[in-house]
Amino acid sequence: MTTITLDSAALGRFEGDVLTQEDPGYDDARKLFNAMIDRRPRVIIRAANTHDVIAAVALARETGLPFAIKGGGHGVNGHAACDDGIMLDLSPLKRIAVDPAARTVIAEAGVNWGEFDAATTAHGLATTGGRVTTTGIAGLTLGTGSGWLERVHGYTADNLISADVVTADGRLVHASEDENPDLFWGLRGGGGNFGVVVNFEYRLHEVPPLLLGGMLLWPFDRAGEVLRRYREFMEDAPDEVSGAAALLTAPPAPFVPPELQGQHVVGVIAIAVAAPEDGEELFRPLREFGPPAVDIVGPMPYTAVQQLLDPGNPPGLYNYWKAELVPELGDELIDLSIEHAERMGRSHSVMLFQPLGGEIGRISDDSNAITARHAAWTAHCIGEWETPAESEAELAWVKAWGPLIEPFKIAGAPLTFRADTGDEHVRRAFGEEKHARLVALKDKYDPENLFRLNQNIKPSAARS
Ligand SMILES: Cc1cc2nc3c(=O)[nH]c(=O)nc-3n(C[C@H](O)[C@H](O)[C@H](O)COP(=O)(O)OP(=O)(O)OC[C@H]3O[C@@H](n4cnc5c(N)ncnc54)[C@H](O)[C@@H]3O)c2cc1C
Repeated sequence: MTTITLDSAALGRFEGDVLTQEDPGYDDARKLFNAMIDRRPRVIIRAANTHDVIAAVALARETGLPFAIKGGGHGVNGHAACDDGIMLDLSPLKRIAVDPAARTVIAEAGVNWGEFDAATTAHGLATTGGRVTTTGIAGLTLGTGSGWLERVHGYTADNLISADVVTADGRLVHASEDENPDLFWGLRGGGGNFGVVVNFEYRLHEVPPLLLGGMLLWPFDRAGEVLRRYREFMEDAPDEVSGAAALLTAPPAPFVPPELQGQHVVGVIAIAVAAPEDGEELFRPLREFGPPAVDIVGPMPYTAVQQLLDPGNPPGLYNYWKAELVPELGDELIDLSIEHAERMGRSHSVMLFQPLGGEIGRISDDSNAITARHAAWTAHCIGEWETPAESEAELAWVKAWGPLIEPFKIAGAPLTFRADTGDEHVRRAFGEEKHARLVALKDKYDPENLFRLNQNIKPSAARS
């Protein structure tokens, strides 16, 4: 067996920091959002510029070592780090250039949604983005990108105008509707399969200076009624109404009455992409569900809406997630979900029903790799807990949701929301037709599967 050495000549070509196990900072640099992941790369390259990305792709090709790409490090399956391979950390790449007149922005691959929103909202503009500020724009956009603005403006990837990509053969190529349109099609939903994206150009939209946002909570014994009423409310809601219904454990926060803290509750996250006075009118039916135990819905800037879920999702917790698309939220699914939630740990874990529709469904299914635009809801079962002692019970709880959701789900669902990986799983997520088109694209851009540490679309050569 040949031993691959990464000597100083191999590593001296980078302008950014290069860290091996002996270097201070190595342990911090290999850490990801999900504490379940504990991988030790042979080398971590912290890219300083596009040249470093091209050099890292060349090094991966020359050595054949596993090659992991990290944007914001939020992928729950932990593909952004690898054992005994090369980890390319893009997080130092932070440049953001907003063009307010054209309503566009170009952001580098290490930017997260907190940084992105701060830059664009300075001009009263935004695009559909992740609901937790520390999530990276890179993995989220490539994997579809779901956010509070999606019923008005489509998914994040629907707002992508172009991207600069380093392909497996080391070329820097531009992908847009006009240049390399096949690659551009696959980048929007197909994940990190086709190259390393160094920057993303997005379409921006005006957001009101203040929106209405927040959360309503009721005791758990009202869950059946609240979920049914929320379903009816969303059936007639205009695109500006966004949010989700949630089964969760009430946090020990000052706004929660002491008797509910640490108890299972049912909640509605309510966001209106509208001026607060219009939002009040839109939310009137929600408040008619009966007096909530907690009502912290109020006017706030878009950046505060984007931070609403941050306190419940700090880095360093243990995570295992599943998600599926469902065409409807029927009574049987509601009742089974409530039974499942009764067995949920008193942790950060949560079950979410997140309404889709609006602009998502109006965009042509052919326009990019995103599947199942007609789905009405994303159902999430999110395990998130604080200590290894809870891991066995939490993992078993999320796994048991798989058979529960099976009869209700349709093909599709962003791969970004799932911890599970594997060819069968990826194929089902895209459906046969789109999967075949993605395999052909993989054959063209990465026939040797250099980019395989991801929700992998295997090229034909790796299938025989
Ligand atoms: C707390 C939390 C909240 C979330 N909220 C949302 C949400 O609201 N909406 C939503 O849609 N998703 C959400 N997600 C899921 C999120 O979109 C995915 O985890 C996504 O992969 C995160 O991107 P990242 O860059 O932070 O992750 P990373 O782990 O860095 O990257 C994930 C994968 O993407 C690929 N990748 C990353 N950067 C590049 C690049 N520049 N070029 C090529 N490939 C690349 C790699 O394969 C990598 O393994 C959330 C996740 C967490 C943990």
